[in-house]
Amino acid sequence: MSTKDFVEKDYYKVLGVPKDATEAEIKKAYRKLAREFHPDANKGDASAEARFKEISEANDILGDPKKRKEYDDARALFGNGGFRAGPGGGAGGTFNFDLGDLFGGAQGGAGGAGGFGGGLGDVFGGLFNRGGTTGTRTQPRRGQDIESEVTLSFTEAVDGATVPLRMSSQQPCKACSGTGDKNGTPRVCPTCVGTGQVSRGGSGSFSLTDPCVDCKGRGLIAQDPCDVCHGSGRAKSSRTMQVRIPAGVFDGQRIRLRGKGAPGERGGPAGDLYVVVHVDAHPVFGRKGDNLTVTVPVTFDEAALGGEIRVPTLGGPPVTLKIPAGTPNGRTMRARGKGAVRKDGTRGDLLVTVEVAVPKDLSDKAREALETYREATAGVDPRAELFQAAKGA
Ligand SMILES: [Zn+2]
Ligand SMILES: [Zn+2]
Repeated sequence: MSTKDFVEKDYYKVLGVPKDATEAEIKKAYRKLAREFHPDANKGDASAEARFKEISEANDILGDPKKRKEYDDARALFGNGGFRAGPGGGAGGTFNFDLGDLFGGAQGGAGGAGGFGGGLGDVFGGLFNRGGTTGTRTQPRRGQDIESEVTLSFTEAVDGATVPLRMSSQQPCKACSGTGDKNGTPRVCPTCVGTGQVSRGGSGSFSLTDPCVDCKGRGLIAQDPCDVCHGSGRAKSSRTMQVRIPAGVFDGQRIRLRGKGAPGERGGPAGDLYVVVHVDAHPVFGRKGDNLTVTVPVTFDEAALGGEIRVPTLGGPPVTLKIPAGTPNGRTMRARGKGAVRKDGTRGDLLVTVEVAVPKDLSDKAREALETYREATAGVDPRAELFQAAKGA
């Protein structure tokens, strides 16, 4: 997560509590939402899962008095309502703001901000373990969570696979400590007066806000853009790692690989890696939970007289299935243990659906036989019941 994210994220809104909510109120709101959006109660619902993650994140911060204070302080400074020029604070709010003074403490300037010892990186990075800061804090920090995606073949998804995953994450630029400014002294964005947001339309309690275009939501503009990050204050780092995707994943599933995110700092644990899995379709097999599906053509006589058919399996030798006499078109049969691997290592089944194939071309002998068959069944009307039922209703 970046500065912008955390400034823009309103954890109070996420939990639906007022800014002055008590600890008990926060706890209560969190429990209620967590129950509602818990992944176990919303299986396969990606939006509920995202919401659940957001709720947990909000609770991590607001549920911890220390983190909550940090969050409130940082938001007051950089987020909504922050940096507003007070009465006589300069027309249009274009005042220079020396972050070095404020946070460095060396000049002892800007009294009252002394709570932020140790550089801008701390304000931005301390809260959510952004990493890559120049701060002086010593507590361990958990690494960042990382999102990635991967496309697997059908077989890889069924069996599980180890795949190379290229991941990029954004961190504060080291050269400028995330300020975007060569000298570490960005000025406050005149457009949004440092809030990083601009209002559009609306009035009263309903005003809509967008991220400020001029400063890209950072609230700060470099006076002398950093050569390394060109003023963005961010650095992209990417790496490739081998990731084990467990057997049995589905298309669109988001899996969490604990501890595979960005490394922690000062002995802190690594973040988690979330991987969204895409699965290619198979020309023959389909998936239904732990079961695989396949449609197999049979001849009319196989269906009518019964017989044994060979059925392909995914990655294994074919199996032989007995078809009972009088099997209707579309009937599904089960080849046990020939499906996808379950979590416990057992396998689902292969669901075999028979489809009666009608020959396009007939040999003379076959035609003769069918004509004889037609004569033999002349008295049978397959649609008699249909018409009876149509009349009855
Ligand atoms: Zn701006
Ligand atoms: Zn930079």
